[in-house]
Amino acid sequence: MKLLEVKDLHTYFNTDEGVIKAVDGVSFSIEAGKTLGIVGESGSGKSVTAMSVIGLLDYPGEIKSGQVLYKGEDLSNISEARMRSLRGNDISVIFQEPMTSLNPVFTIKFQLNEAIILHQNVSKEEATSISLKMLEAVKIKNAKEVLNYYPHQLSGGMRQRVMIAMALACRPSILIADEPTTALDVIIQADILKLMNDLRDDFNTSIIFISHDLGVVSQMADDVIVMINGKVVEKAPIRMIFDNPIHPYTRTLISSFMRTDIDTDVEDFKPLDNYAMVTDEYDFKNFKENRMADEDWVEVEAEHFVAVNKL
Ligand code: ADP
Ligand code: MG
Repeated sequence: MKLLEVKDLHTYFNTDEGVIKAVDGVSFSIEAGKTLGIVGESGSGKSVTAMSVIGLLDYPGEIKSGQVLYKGEDLSNISEARMRSLRGNDISVIFQEPMTSLNPVFTIKFQLNEAIILHQNVSKEEATSISLKMLEAVKIKNAKEVLNYYPHQLSGGMRQRVMIAMALACRPSILIADEPTTALDVIIQADILKLMNDLRDDFNTSIIFISHDLGVVSQMADDVIVMINGKVVEKAPIRMIFDNPIHPYTRTLISSFMRTDIDTDVEDFKPLDNYAMVTDEYDFKNFKENRMADEDWVEVEAEHFVAVNKL
C-alpha cells in the first residue's frame, strides 16, 4: 500500500531577486516499512521537498502546485492545526544537527516527555517510562542516567540517538531523516545507520532518507530518487541505480561515490570504467522521437524511470 504519494510537487520561494523554483515537479511514493532515498548535491531541493511534505517551509516558501497524499489525505493545503497533529504522531523528522532541535536548557527527560505528552494521552510517569524505553531502543546504555542529562553532556552521536528516540516515540508511520549522519564521523555514522535500519524493521516505520552521499543512501534505501535543480532525473530500486545508471547526472554521482572508496554491500560492484564506456548511450532525443517515452519519463526497465528532458 502506498503510504505517501507526492505528485508533481512545485515549491517556490518568491524573493526580491525573483522566483526560486526549489522543487520543480517532484513525484515519488513510499510504501509502509520501506526506505526511500533522496540523493542529490547541495541545493538540489532535497530539504525543501521534505519540508513541503511536513509543512515546515521557511518563509517565503510556498507549495505552488501538486499534491502530498498521506493515506489519501492531501497535506499540501490542510490547516496548520491538522498538520501539527500529524507531525510527530504520523510523520516525524530528524535533521543533520541535533543541537538545533534539542533545547540546551532542558534535560533529555523533559524534552522526550514533552514530545510524548503532546501527542499521547499519558501521565507524566507513563511518559517517563516510554522515554526510558525509547532511549533503550536507540541503544543508549546508561539510559536512566542519560534521562537526566542536558544536551551538552552528550556526544554528537548520542544526541542524534536521542533525536531518533524522540522522533520515534509516538510511533510515526514515516520518519523523514534529512542528512541525519552528515555531521558525524564515519564510525558513529555507521552505527546510526545500522540503528535506523534496525528500528525501521522493529517499528515498521517508513523512512525518507535524504543525503548528498550516495554511499550512505545505498546502505539505507530500497528505492532512490536522484534530484538536481529541483527535479527528479532518475528513480529506481537502489540496486538498479548501481547496476544500470542511465542519466548522466546519476553516473556522475556514482563515479564520485566510487572514488570515495566506501565499503558497500552492493554485490557485483562494477569498476568505474564500465560506466564511462556507456555514458553516451543515453539519447534523450531518441527516447522522445521514437515515442519510447511516455511524456517526460521513460521506463528503461521494470520500476526504473529516467527523465527524458535535458536539464
Ligand atoms: P538541499 O537540501 O538539496 O541541499 P534545499 O532543498 O535546501 O537543497 O534548497 C533548494 C533550493 O531552494 C536552493 O536553491 C536554496 O537556495 C533554495 N532555498 C531554500 N530555502 C530557501 C529560503 N528560505 N529562501 C530562499 N531560497 C531558499
Ligand atoms: Mg538539505
